[in-house]
Amino acid sequence: MQFVYAFEDGTKEMKDILGGKGANLAEMKKIGLPVPDGFTISTKACMTYYNDDKTINTTMKEAVFEQLSQLENKTGKKLGDISNPLLVSVRSGAVISMPGMMDTVLNLGLNDETVEGLKNLTNNPVFAFDSYRRFIQMFSDVVLDIEKYKFDRIYRKYKSYTSENLEKIIEEYKSLVLKETHNSFPQDVNLQLMMAVKAVFDSWNNHRAIIYRKIHNIPDNLGTAVNVQSMVFGNIGDTSGTGVAFTRNPSTGENKLYGEYLLNAQGEDVVAGIRTPLPIEELKNSLPSVFNEFVNITNILENHYNDMQDIEFTIEQGKLYLLQTRTGKRTAKAALQIAVDLVQEEKIDINTALLRIDPEQINQILHPSFSEKALRNATILTKGLPASPGAASGKIYFDSESIKLAKQRGEKTILVRTETSPEDIEGMINTEGILTSRGGMTSHAAVVARAMGKCCIAGCHEVNVEEYNKKMIIGQIILNEGDEISLHGGTGIVYDGFIETSEIELPDALNLIMKWSDDKRKLNIRANADTKLDASIAIKFGAEGIGLCRTEHMFFDESRINDVRKLILADDLEGRIDALESLLPYQKKDFFDLFSEMKEKPVTIRLLDPPLHEFLPKEEEDINILSKKINKPSDVIKRNLKEIEEVNPMLGHRGCRLGITYPEIYEMQVKAIFEAVCEIQSKFDFTVNPEIMIPLVGFENELKIIKKLVKNTANKVLNENNVKCNYKIGTMIEVPRAALTADDIAKEAEFFSFGTNDLTQMTLGFSRDDSGKFINEYKNQSIFAKNPFESIDQNGVGKLMKLAKQLGRSTRPNLKIGICGEHGGEPDSIEFCHKIGLDYVSCSPYRVPIAKLAAAQAAIKNTN
Ligand code: PEP
Ligand code: MG
Repeated sequence: MQFVYAFEDGTKEMKDILGGKGANLAEMKKIGLPVPDGFTISTKACMTYYNDDKTINTTMKEAVFEQLSQLENKTGKKLGDISNPLLVSVRSGAVISMPGMMDTVLNLGLNDETVEGLKNLTNNPVFAFDSYRRFIQMFSDVVLDIEKYKFDRIYRKYKSYTSENLEKIIEEYKSLVLKETHNSFPQDVNLQLMMAVKAVFDSWNNHRAIIYRKIHNIPDNLGTAVNVQSMVFGNIGDTSGTGVAFTRNPSTGENKLYGEYLLNAQGEDVVAGIRTPLPIEELKNSLPSVFNEFVNITNILENHYNDMQDIEFTIEQGKLYLLQTRTGKRTAKAALQIAVDLVQEEKIDINTALLRIDPEQINQILHPSFSEKALRNATILTKGLPASPGAASGKIYFDSESIKLAKQRGEKTILVRTETSPEDIEGMINTEGILTSRGGMTSHAAVVARAMGKCCIAGCHEVNVEEYNKKMIIGQIILNEGDEISLHGGTGIVYDGFIETSEIELPDALNLIMKWSDDKRKLNIRANADTKLDASIAIKFGAEGIGLCRTEHMFFDESRINDVRKLILADDLEGRIDALESLLPYQKKDFFDLFSEMKEKPVTIRLLDPPLHEFLPKEEEDINILSKKINKPSDVIKRNLKEIEEVNPMLGHRGCRLGITYPEIYEMQVKAIFEAVCEIQSKFDFTVNPEIMIPLVGFENELKIIKKLVKNTANKVLNENNVKCNYKIGTMIEVPRAALTADDIAKEAEFFSFGTNDLTQMTLGFSRDDSGKFINEYKNQSIFAKNPFESIDQNGVGKLMKLAKQLGRSTRPNLKIGICGEHGGEPDSIEFCHKIGLDYVSCSPYRVPIAKLAAAQAAIKNTN
């Protein structure tokens, strides 16, 4: 195995071995740009170091010194040579960029003797001693683990930094090192080098790097490369300097050089923020020829990489050097703009442009977000499941009523609950964000929040929510009603205090990206929408139909929840019919609204699905309120509740099982749907396309019985009104038995829609609501890489889907098949659905643009 590579021996394709920085330094060297000489110790060397119990083996050490001697030949300088010392920087460089997470040492090679050499060589004692001072400080911080502030304290004691004072500072620094480590500051330059290399290897596993990898899903076994490069100095006077620039604006995407620089400074001065850097355009005035050369090089680099570059440079006595180039990180807005502009500038084609945009990043422009800067200083309280994206900050409240009152006072709020129930709907509507300690990615809170486009963190198990005390407790920390927290729905992190969020603004470039995506994708994109508002958002984002209307969500509304409860608690058929008659007009209006919004687009309406207890009150106070509202004694209600209670409601009396046992419920829903159809047809001249979907089917016979009921009821209403309607009756495939017997099920079903939330729950045997407790640990221990409720478990659940599709189409070749589980909006799952040949995916309205782009990417990646 080759452990070390000279810059001349690498290319930009060798990122896995050389890390991003090393590969790009090599590439810049290859195309003739001014890059100081150096070499890269590979990521494989780093992993070997870890496998050898954190020791640098002899072969590796020899390879480093072999490359060092070649570097000495190239530069004509020598590490440790008193008369002509080579100084080097030692920098980390991971395969996937982790800015600021790992360590760097500059000016290595200085000691009590070489500093004299540097002084004589440059005739600049201040520069030489300042460089040595900087080196001792940085090396001590990074390698010897002595806190930086102890050096700062010494440095700040001095009023001026003459060479005499700098020499005194150096002496004080060295005494500090002796005191802290009981060893003198290392004077052996070879030892300095190996200690620095080891420290950079070690920084791969420092706390912040580990956290960064976790948040960004970067594998732990990649390791970092180490770049050893001949130093160039930006701090030799006013014709020297250092800076960073992006070839286009990384926030807006504007095609204009964007960056800053400092004269007479080293890189860390820009980062440390002690001096304020100047905008890059001003370099035109101070060093015009360097500026022109730099502009020219930025163009060369952008054209070479065909993407926006983030470039670090140093000017040493009027000569420009490049220290890094990499693809620049950018906001979603900039990502869209740059992709569109590069196509219009004929630098990349549309496919490349579409593949460059991270679909998940589009969330940033569809929802409020926090700035990266604000997050850097924020205190993390805990982490849960990233159930619904966006960002929210506000005062915490523990019930809907308090949220409503706080909103009336003009406050921003966060609703905190152990888990959400129908009581909380109003609170969810009025609040900025939702935090629950229980529940998973597909729990009620998550699904409802996503549909509303509202930020939600669920399954935050470290939080103990005491609703009755109006407190949330995280370990030693107690937060009371009115205290402020912030939620990052994209990562699941809960922060202390209030963090400003940015407003939503849809950039023009999104329209073009969507148009291109529409041209490329094969999958249709529908939305999961339960209300007129959801449907209108879905239409605004370009949904081609509704793939799932969860009719139970219509029941949660305050105006009808008590009729629903009356229905569930009814003692007999008569009582149920009475309650159903009150519900019918509501349901009819719901469907009328949906149809009027969706017009001719298909609307898949699913009949009642969830376990009945989800609609019922749990707390004494709520039971008493209900008792008055429905005129039934509290103790009778409690007895009814006991009768309905199930040990495992997710596998209990729900889905089509309700339709089999209480056909009158489904009958009412179907009647409401088709009465709405008739009313629409009488008022408008478009024809609606309803698709009636039966949930939780496992047996062909279940479907047969319910299909008959649906048909009879629908046809009766249509005939009475003399209306024709081309409706379809189909089923969800969400019970493994349905997938396994899909050929039989397809005899009855005119369409399939994969309910991958339940299919995942039942295939893995993981409760949708409880698995949050262990899923993160499963990810930590690499049992799986992604939460299977977020991204389809392709090897398990995916196999059932493939089988169901084959069996279903063997019976009915034109069977329309889609997916409406929450996976329908997740890019990897969308690619999987494309590959197995589904007709459509259905996702929450706010994910429609993400799904469109992901579907286009799937089509582009999987042609041939
Ligand atoms: C599913 O199970 O995937 C589904 C869409 O239904 P629900 O989430 O409502 O159970
Ligand atoms: Mg389901």
